[in-house]
Amino acid sequence: MMIKGTTKNLGVMGWPIAHSLSPVLQNAAIAAADLDYTYMALPVKPEALAAAVNGLKALQFRGFNVTIPHKTAIMPLLDEIDKDARIIGAVNTVVNDDGKLTGYNTDVTGFIDAMLARGFNPKAKEVVLLGAGGAARAVVWGLIKSGVKAINIGVRNPKKVQPLADEFSNYGSITVFNWDDENFSAKLAQADLLVNTTPLGMAPKIDAMPPVDWKLVKKTAFVYDIIYTPAETKFLREAREHGHETLNGEGMLTGQGAAAFSKWTGVKPDIDVMKQALRDALLG
Ligand code: NAP
Repeated sequence: MMIKGTTKNLGVMGWPIAHSLSPVLQNAAIAAADLDYTYMALPVKPEALAAAVNGLKALQFRGFNVTIPHKTAIMPLLDEIDKDARIIGAVNTVVNDDGKLTGYNTDVTGFIDAMLARGFNPKAKEVVLLGAGGAARAVVWGLIKSGVKAINIGVRNPKKVQPLADEFSNYGSITVFNWDDENFSAKLAQADLLVNTTPLGMAPKIDAMPPVDWKLVKKTAFVYDIIYTPAETKFLREAREHGHETLNGEGMLTGQGAAAFSKWTGVKPDIDVMKQALRDALLG
């Protein structure tokens, strides 16, 4: 696709940004939809965030994604923040309507839609969440919005995660455990859905995984890892070998991008094209 005088600009700001897969995902979707847009990586150091946001506004960018380390820092620089993003406390997508900037969080839709697309509906289900860092906030809110029965978080450092649990307790049942605690084993045995949000097992340290005694876990439990490199983590491989349905993080990543694309262009992207572009990029 040719960049022309009429081409509308999109991008992703982060630091570092060279590793980002978003340009690949978005430009594949733009080409497939034959739209006059382009999407670029925008290296923005933390101290340059406000200048960068004003710059993109001045340049009439249609919108942009925001990634580490700016997802929370950008919030006071925006004119409006969507409810999901406000509750999660992080923005990953900004839409520019003639100089009015609105922040959204599409990680939450990405996470939930990928699971629904695989035929697992978390409504009224018991969930065990392993790890609770930045990404887990969108996961927790997505699960609560989906009407889960309870979320039991297993982590190595419960004290650190208690504030998150206290905050989200306003919306649903959420409890934090040390994952070595036997009370946590009881929750593992009740779980209908297990979600890994730790980086354990992510390349290059592919031999790691969060501690899960598969003997305890119900055979019908659905097992979801939000990691996408490798495509099958040790956690997912063991789950599959124990007969569980599994899902990796590719759909979440593609889904957050697809939701952002729709907000900017008003067009639903070809999600299969995005998935294929992501897979090719990961293999390449
Ligand atoms: P994060 O903020 O660093 O949080 C990671 C969580 O895992 C924390 O609870 C942390 O506990 C725990 N953890 C980290 N290392 C651990 C270890 N060695 N042993 C035990 N617990 C450990 O990371 P994040 O940004 O949430 O990202 C987590 C993972 O999700 C990454 O692999 C990332 O690639 C993936 N992700 C995927 C998508 C997607 O679209 N598919 C989106 C976002 C993130 P402590 O606080 O005790 O360190």
